Amino acid sequence: MTKQNKAFKSRIYPNKEQEELLAKTFGCVRFFYNKMLVERKETYEKFKDDEEKLKEQKFPTPAKYKDEFPFLKEVDSLALANAQIHLQNAYKNFFEGRAEFPKFKSKKHKQSYTTNMVNGNIKIEDGHIKLPKFKKPIKMKQHREIPAEYKIKSCTISKTKTGKYYISILTEYEKDIRPVKIQKVVGLDFAMDGLYVESEQGEKANYPRYYRQALVKLAKAQQILSRRKKGSTRWEKQRLKVAKLHEKIANQRRNFLHHKSKELAANYDAVIIEDLDMKGMSQALNFGKSVHDNGWGMFTTFLEYKLKEQGKQLVKIDKWFPSTKKCSRCGNEKEMSLSERVYKCTCGLVLDRDYNSAINIKKEGLRLLELA
Ligand SMILES: [Zn+2]
Repeated sequence: MTKQNKAFKSRIYPNKEQEELLAKTFGCVRFFYNKMLVERKETYEKFKDDEEKLKEQKFPTPAKYKDEFPFLKEVDSLALANAQIHLQNAYKNFFEGRAEFPKFKSKKHKQSYTTNMVNGNIKIEDGHIKLPKFKKPIKMKQHREIPAEYKIKSCTISKTKTGKYYISILTEYEKDIRPVKIQKVVGLDFAMDGLYVESEQGEKANYPRYYRQALVKLAKAQQILSRRKKGSTRWEKQRLKVAKLHEKIANQRRNFLHHKSKELAANYDAVIIEDLDMKGMSQALNFGKSVHDNGWGMFTTFLEYKLKEQGKQLVKIDKWFPSTKKCSRCGNEKEMSLSERVYKCTCGLVLDRDYNSAINIKKEGLRLLELA
């Protein structure tokens, strides 16, 4: 038996009183996080030349701030504890070179906090969810019932820019997963426009038309916003419109990525991809936001757990593997400029550039799986 995690996201409908406590909790978490960050920054400046000393410095705790700022005691203490863990992880990632120095939390960003299941403090009953510190359970609209054998681990409550509230309930369950004998394998080449090109037919996973249309609509709405006077009524109205479109697009994208990853996990026993460094890539090639927005990171996360829960595999090949340069028929290598859309080889192969790459990725995966 292996432990598996699954998250269930639902919309919640707090009443006025509950909305106030949520706002207070978001505020306290942000306040506490920023306070800790200030202290960490000072510590860092003070000891940055002495790594040993820097490592010895204790991380601030909620208890310390609660004495100084008693209002912190009025909100869920687990929310604060999680903010501390969150910052600790952000710090660790920074020190190990995986991320930039943590940034301050602003009111403008999505508001959220995380709490944990401790001694039955979280309960779901009659379309409501009970959360720590709340007198009454909050109304919740569930799309999927959480199976009885799934244990609730934590909940993240968030408020979007357009004022909607959501809860993501993280659960854990045991599953008897047996490794599948790998027979059907596919390679995917990351595609800048669209999502990927697959190795079997050379087909591109294009985002649906309605999604691309929504993106055009968003760009137009943003342009209008930029022309409005900041802070005016008309600006505020347009800002809300832009935020709504953002949310709609994010939902459409997530649904599409779920759909595509589900399809692949159903049809194949192993999926081979390149281990791409998205952040480095968008910086190096100056693609700006498009690489992040393309959804590749989210897609591979979905794909990985969907394969895993069926005993299947996601294989990541080295990012330095020359998937673009190689001829997928004879193995010859040559330089390819970004503008060359077709791979032509002296052996006679003429193939779409991305299709050729996808086949190479698949072949490399087969070699790693010792199937070739
Ligand atoms: Zn060739």
